[in-house]
This record gives sequence, C-alpha cells and structure tokens, in this order.
Amino acid sequence: MIGLASAKVDEARLWRRHMDMAKLGATPKGGVRRLALDANDAKARALLLDWGRRRGFSAFIDPIANFFIRRDGTDRHADPVLSGSHTDTQPSGGRFDGIYGVLAAFEALEAIEDAGIRTRRPIELAVWTCEEGGAYLTGTMGSSVFVGARKLDDVLRLKGTDDAPITAAIAATRRAVSEAADRPLGFPISAFVEAHIEQGPELEAVGKTIGVVTVIQGCRRFFVEVDGEDGHAGTVKRSRRRDAFVSACDIAHALRRHFHDPDEIIRFTIGRFVVTPNAPAVIPGHVTFSIDFRHPDDGVLRRLGDAVADVCRAHQGACTASVREAVWAKPVELCGAIPDLIEATAGRLGLSHMRMLSGAGHDAMYIAQVAPVGMIFVPCEKGISHNEVENATPADLAAGARVLAEVLVELADRT
Ligand SMILES: [Zn+2]
Repeated sequence: MIGLASAKVDEARLWRRHMDMAKLGATPKGGVRRLALDANDAKARALLLDWGRRRGFSAFIDPIANFFIRRDGTDRHADPVLSGSHTDTQPSGGRFDGIYGVLAAFEALEAIEDAGIRTRRPIELAVWTCEEGGAYLTGTMGSSVFVGARKLDDVLRLKGTDDAPITAAIAATRRAVSEAADRPLGFPISAFVEAHIEQGPELEAVGKTIGVVTVIQGCRRFFVEVDGEDGHAGTVKRSRRRDAFVSACDIAHALRRHFHDPDEIIRFTIGRFVVTPNAPAVIPGHVTFSIDFRHPDDGVLRRLGDAVADVCRAHQGACTASVREAVWAKPVELCGAIPDLIEATAGRLGLSHMRMLSGAGHDAMYIAQVAPVGMIFVPCEKGISHNEVENATPADLAAGARVLAEVLVELADRT
C-alpha cells in the first residue's frame, strides 16, 4: 500500500502551516525569534493543539512541557511511533529549523487520516522543549530529560538570562495548552523519526531532495571564565595589568591552533564572548566565552576536548582561566532498519536521495538512547540556517513529508 499516505500529503497546506507558525515571533527581516518557552513558543503548541483537535487527535504534555499530538492505532496498548522536532528558534532564527519536523509530522498525521489508513500502533507528533537553548543556554533540553540523560530536577532549577525561573515559563506554557492531558516523563516508544532541513549545503550542491542521515556528529561545549582585575584605562601600565580580554584573546588564538584541521572535519566555534564590565575606560576584569567543538569521531572528540583546559591555562597570562564543560554528546550512529526504510521509501517515491552525516545536533540523538531512530533531511537554500533568511522550497518540504508519512505507516504496522 505504498503511496496511499504520501498521495494525501498536501504541499500547499504544509506551506501555509509554515507561514502561520512564522507569524509567531516574526522578525522585520523575515525570520523568527521564538525562544524556548516564551509566549510565542507556547502559542505554537496551542496552534498545534487546535489543529489536532479539529482532526480528532488527542494532546498530551509532560513535566518539561514536551508536547504530543496522538493519532490512535487499532492496538491502544501498543507503544507509539513518534515523529517531530522543536518549535523554538535561535534569537535570530528562520522559518524552518525545527518547525519543519513538527509540521511534517502533523502533515503526515493528516495525510494518513485523509487516506483512511488504520495503523496498529498509535502515531504521535512530538514537540521537544528547548532544543536551541534559548534563555537557558541549555539545548536539547526536553529530549535529554525525556530519556533521562539530564535530571528533571536539575533543569527545573535553571533560570533564564533575565533571571526568571524556568519553572514559571514551563507553567505558562502548560497553561496555554490546558486541554492537553498530563503525561509522566519518558514513556516507551517503538521508534522515532525526525524530519529537518539540512542546515548545510550538501543536498543542494548535488541536486538531491532527500538526505538519509546515518550519523549525527558529536559535540562538546565548554564555558571558559577568565578572571583578571578591573583597572583604570589611563593609569595602569601594561606590565601591571590583569586584562581578562587580552588573556581571553590569547587563549582563543591558541584554541584555534589546537582545533586546526586541514581536512576541515573539525567544527570549532566561539559563539558567545562576554566582556565585563564592558566599559571603554575600564580594563576588563572578567571574560566568559563558549567553545563549541564537533566531530563525527568519538576518539577525536575525546582527545582534543580533554586538552581544552590545559590549553586555556597555558595561555592565561596574568589572569586565571577556568573551564566548565556543559555538553558532551557522543556521535550517534543511526545505522540499521530505519535509515534503510527511509532510503527505500524515497527510492519507491521516485525521489533523489543520498546518505549523509548531520553536522548539527538534533533531538534525535537523545531519543536514540531509548528507541530506533531515523532522520530525513531536505535541502535549505544555500545551506543557510540559524539565520533569518533561512529558506526552503514548498516542493522539497512536501517531498520530505511524503517520505515521512510512508515511513510512519510502515513503522506503525510493524509488530
Ligand atoms: Zn533544529
């Protein structure tokens, strides 16, 4: 019965839903600013709840505000097949990162419903809370808590960069979808499939429509604190200064050398750099900055990441550098049945496809700890993402949703 569900995928409807979602946090430059658990992120869940209710689907929410829309199967006790991603964006994000995986899952649910297909297992759309980090600087929050990789109590102690407790934001989000039934954290699932824009240029470069992800590269993230001493910019000699900015720059240069890779497989980024007190006439006494380091090979992640603290100390100069590791996500191999199924389905639907690595981290890498997982990539324009100009074509988005719909039907009928 291949083709029944995918034939009901409606390209115009899927595009319209993207544009409806893009209004929630729309920026003047055409992007989206919908930070995790903010008012627009809550509205995104409420909109999904409303759409789902019209189709007769039920909704659930868990203690970290992960949100689920369920289409029942014939066996009510069977573990569900899940598909989804995230509704939050980066501070100056685009219209497709995350929300595509959510809307492709919703489109698949509707297409399966429209095709009148009955599946044995329930199929559920999942919205994982705070994938991007938002005001809490903690990404893949909902999915990592769901699988137990992070403790709920630890996350509930977090405060946002505005000092507001996360518990208040979670409560507000839950109120926005008060009709959704409470669910405990973490329940058995039989499989998870996440659709996502590629966020890189590979598919577009070779003219393929569907990316079958085989591995999500690993990521280590550190925060470096450089402590010096505030001083008067006009009176303190260079030799007496403990200038945290100067030390942080020296450390940053050393880190660039440490992570230099002529093959360009390593990804190394200092994306956050905060100078305090940040005043023109004051020698800065304090700097904090982030290090984001990614690689598909666990051994390289371990070797180069483990040396970060030594590199920082060796170049701290007159200041004191300390390093805290915030994230260590191992590379995740998505080998096996689901990537094979995605590949075969794309082939049967006549869509060009290729196997590929995911350079970005995704909720799927945590869900892979508890269930078989697959990822479907579609091209995004020039590979640009985490950017307000992020773009994708209606046809490519629909193609990914067609593959997803077929894959979900197949997985939901498996025993
Ligand atoms: Zn994303």
